[in-house]
Amino acid sequence: MTENVTSAARVTAVDTHDIRFPTSRELDGSDAMNPDPDYSAAYVVLRTDAGDGPEGHGFTFTIGRGNDVQVAAIDSLRDHVVGRRVADLAADPGSLARDLTGDSQLRWLGPEKGVMHMAIGAVVNAAWDLAAKCAGKPLWQFLADAEPEWLVRQIDFRYLTDALTRDEALDLLRRGREGAAERAARLRERGYPAYTTSPGWLGYDDEKLTRLARRAVADGFTQIKLKVGADLADDVRRCRVARSVVGPHVRMAIDANQRWDVDAAVEWTRALAEFDPYWVEEPTSPDDILGHAAIRRGVAPVKVATGEHVQNRIVFKQLLQAGAIDVLQIDAARVGGVNENLAILLLAAKFGVPVCPHAGGVGLCELVQHLSMFDYVALTGSTEDRVIEYVDHLHQHFTDPVVITDGHYRAPAAPGFSATMRPESIAEYTYPDGTFWAADLAQRKESAV
Ligand SMILES: [Mg+2]
Repeated sequence: MTENVTSAARVTAVDTHDIRFPTSRELDGSDAMNPDPDYSAAYVVLRTDAGDGPEGHGFTFTIGRGNDVQVAAIDSLRDHVVGRRVADLAADPGSLARDLTGDSQLRWLGPEKGVMHMAIGAVVNAAWDLAAKCAGKPLWQFLADAEPEWLVRQIDFRYLTDALTRDEALDLLRRGREGAAERAARLRERGYPAYTTSPGWLGYDDEKLTRLARRAVADGFTQIKLKVGADLADDVRRCRVARSVVGPHVRMAIDANQRWDVDAAVEWTRALAEFDPYWVEEPTSPDDILGHAAIRRGVAPVKVATGEHVQNRIVFKQLLQAGAIDVLQIDAARVGGVNENLAILLLAAKFGVPVCPHAGGVGLCELVQHLSMFDYVALTGSTEDRVIEYVDHLHQHFTDPVVITDGHYRAPAAPGFSATMRPESIAEYTYPDGTFWAADLAQRKESAV
């Protein structure tokens, strides 16, 4: 704890902001299920009376009107948070997660899934941001420096113990610490491997795909990703274009964003096999564990990846138990906060499945890099076959944006979870009253006359 957080300081307010960016106009982020996304954040600030002490910032990622519901869900958690001592939150953020998921009236809406769980994730992540800031460390280092016993106490093992016990987790974390100092030094020196999705949005034409794929290779990325699943003939053409641009040695993943039934996923992926896809991502519903297992058997040696819409640690547990995935894709803002993602990282480590996080959206790269870096430094100790997704959109709205050098995420150095948005961006893109949207709305009214 830094000195400027007095033991008496408390959370005085939970501010929520509905932030939307007009990304649909350039087809940035377009895929087979989301043709016109306006990338958005339901953003939360835990304000305190600690003078110039830190605030906790967090958010969850949604698309446009989804924010109407998401912000209301965060608002419903306010009474659980206001009045808590900052020192208590910083010492035990996991206890906040347990209290929020334990609210029986709100739990009925889940349990532990969907809008309510994402709202809890936003608030709990803000508490983790506050805790790391109070410690004066970037979150990845805050986690890597923490005692294994403390980390295990942050995790809710309910529903997990048939696959991962507390003692097994403790053992994994204790072994993970061996050599952590050297790995932290290596991480600061060369960063963590990234791959890029920027060339492959479904709405981009072949010229833009070619140009961005060529740039990705020149920028040092060793993996790119293409959106697929709307039209097979288009996918064959686009995969051919991309493969011819990047050559045989750059990995090329494909991502169907849940478009297919199980049989279609197998057939479609086989039809693209000549282009040597490294993994097929979200081939079908994120809830279909046995479906993923069948697809995995059907498309091998192409790997199966999923996770960005997997709602909680229990579904991840089952995906691993069923041998349904080759690559586990955590998302920093879908499950119930850092503590639940710690559980998922531990499950993946136990089953020996590499974690390649989902990112992009609004601020997801900023958040999730911390979790992979912790995993490398103090859990699995490896970056082999592990890459964090990178999309080069909207980073300019954050005070501590990700930095990519030679296809690697640089390790953040600023204290916290890299979640803080610039006040100017909040003022401009708050919906519907921010300066951008107010002007946009006025213009639309005018042209309608
Ligand atoms: Mg995806």
